[in-house]
Amino acid sequence: MNAPSTSPSLIVKNLSKAFPTAGDPLRVLSDLSLELASGDSLAVVGPSGSGKSTLLQILGTLDRPDTGTVTIDGADPFALAEKELAQFRNQKIGFIFQDHHLLPQLTVIENVLVPALAFGKPSPTDIGRANDLLGEVGLSGRLGHLPGELSGGERERVAIARSLLMQPTLILADEPTGNLDRKTADSVSELLLRLQQSVGAILITVTHSESLASAMADRKELVEGRLV
Ligand code: ADP
Ligand code: MG
Repeated sequence: MNAPSTSPSLIVKNLSKAFPTAGDPLRVLSDLSLELASGDSLAVVGPSGSGKSTLLQILGTLDRPDTGTVTIDGADPFALAEKELAQFRNQKIGFIFQDHHLLPQLTVIENVLVPALAFGKPSPTDIGRANDLLGEVGLSGRLGHLPGELSGGERERVAIARSLLMQPTLILADEPTGNLDRKTADSVSELLLRLQQSVGAILITVTHSESLASAMADRKELVEGRLV
């Protein structure tokens, strides 16, 4: 069952992360804390190299912090074994990347169904939901197309549909409009926020785009390893 919308479903406490170098370790995240509830949207801004992608990787459970905790829907993902963590990630977290990361040999609808594959063969419910989501993003007529046959904006919309397939608690987007022209970027941003609101997920977007950042409910800057 989902937590009530007033209680935070993402709790991040005292996260630190450093990378080894030839000299002193490079401290990227330093005692970073954050709490967000269902329906919240947050833009994370900051210069290149400030640790934005590192933060998303850790929140996405793709990398581990050195110290600190991440709690998603009351669970500590880093306490899970590898296989359970992969399922947890597929169930709870939707990812949208700048370069969309669609699989070139799979059709549009097959790409949207990829998160369901962690649980075996996609169910009729999964397939129905993939169809509905592709309708929502305006791609009903393109189900059997390959990513290479779509425009950049269309590919990003497929990535948005894929991120929502499992009705995730958390959607993480890294520069989702970074490769798009202004007009396409605005329509993709609008779509992303509308769908995030309709499913009540938390949305965290890393972006350099002023218009995307200002469309989010809150904005924080990553400065010296902390969100301010
Ligand atoms: P941003 O996304 O804000 O541009 P990143 O999180 O990608 O920043 O990187 C923050 C810093 O950490 C950069 O200096 C980068 O070179 C370094 N870094 C990121 N990942 C690794 C890694 N796996 N190993 C070593 N250094 C890394
Ligand atoms: Mg980055």
